[in-house]
Amino acid sequence: MTIDVGRASDVGLVRESNEDALLLLGPLGSGGAVLAVADGMGGHQAGEVASGLAVEALQQLLTGAAERDDAESALMDAVRHANRAIWEAARTDRAREGMGTTLVCALVAASGRAIVANVGDSRAYVVSGTRAEQVTADHSWVGDQVRAGRMTADDAEHSPYKHILSRSLGVTSDVDVDVFTDLVLGPGDALVLCSDGVSNHLGLEDFGAVVAASASAQEAAERLVDLALDRGGSDNATVVVARRLD
Ligand code: CA
Repeated sequence: MTIDVGRASDVGLVRESNEDALLLLGPLGSGGAVLAVADGMGGHQAGEVASGLAVEALQQLLTGAAERDDAESALMDAVRHANRAIWEAARTDRAREGMGTTLVCALVAASGRAIVANVGDSRAYVVSGTRAEQVTADHSWVGDQVRAGRMTADDAEHSPYKHILSRSLGVTSDVDVDVFTDLVLGPGDALVLCSDGVSNHLGLEDFGAVVAASASAQEAAERLVDLALDRGGSDNATVVVARRLD
């Protein structure tokens, strides 16, 4: 085994149901892993349906993809397929009209090579030692304002419009997907995926400190979710971690 994996999800202290979904396949026979976090939205439990459909589509399409030469296109195809599956389901059921989800997903090969794709504001971080770096850019209204230079990151952090997404999965028949291909996990480095119920409560230094202090990927995932709950647990909190062993 070269990639250690862990996951944790909690409804939080305010919400009545958990509309986050996660996927963790691995360590696979090849030593690699497939991971994803989806944060659903929509009334009448439709958010739960949307995030569930997203991870289901990935599971069907990505088993075995981590070590493929065309891993990048496999990941993009899987995300687009997930988008289509949610869009179709929403179109054919009025109660689910308008449902959607964020999705951040990754293929990690045994070599440490990683590919990340995302739509929405669920995030990916790479943690090396006690240092964490955010890989993904939030597809949110405030995120767009910050990138355009119209708002500071600090103002965005406290904006009442923070929850408004500028891109999500399942609301249109096709979707733009961001993909990050040049990631390599060194020995001991971790890739962390999470929903905004975690990133709203934790800063980069928290991700670094918790992962560095955890003996396993599972411990890191549980401690990150616990910390988000300790700080208010204002939303569903979900984390998936893949760490390359020394
Ligand atoms: Ca959320």
